[in-house]
Amino acid sequence: MADCIFCQIAGGKIPTEFLYQDDTVVAFKDINPQAPVHFLVVPKKHIGSILDVGGDDADLLPTVQKVIAQLASKLGITDGGFRVVVNTGKDGGQTVPHLHFHVLGGRFLDWPPG
Ligand code: 5GP
Ligand code: ZN
Repeated sequence: MADCIFCQIAGGKIPTEFLYQDDTVVAFKDINPQAPVHFLVVPKKHIGSILDVGGDDADLLPTVQKVIAQLASKLGITDGGFRVVVNTGKDGGQTVPHLHFHVLGGRFLDWPPG
């Protein structure tokens, strides 16, 4: 989708250092980190939110899980623990309407969120 910031990042139109990329997803650091480690795992395909994952996307969630586990280990947050967040819609605080998985770690994360 031409005017979608994460489509532009995933498509290489906005120069971004990827922590990981394959045919299905990219991962990169959040521009406004909320924890010492804060990265995003983003499908290359434009999918608006978790509600829009379809039958054609059977490989997506297993791939996301694998990438989260690999990067969490690589970035040293598996021992301390971390949080995976998928903000969805207005009440969920989603600001970029392209599905993305936040991974936050490196500090204690309060619960419940604000
Ligand atoms: P949401 O609020 O939709 O759950 O999360 C969107 C996230 O994308 C925010 O944490 C925001 O900081 C991040 N973000 C927005 N624009 C950019 C960008 O151009 N580059 C990067 N790396 N992160 C972005
Ligand atoms: Zn998009």
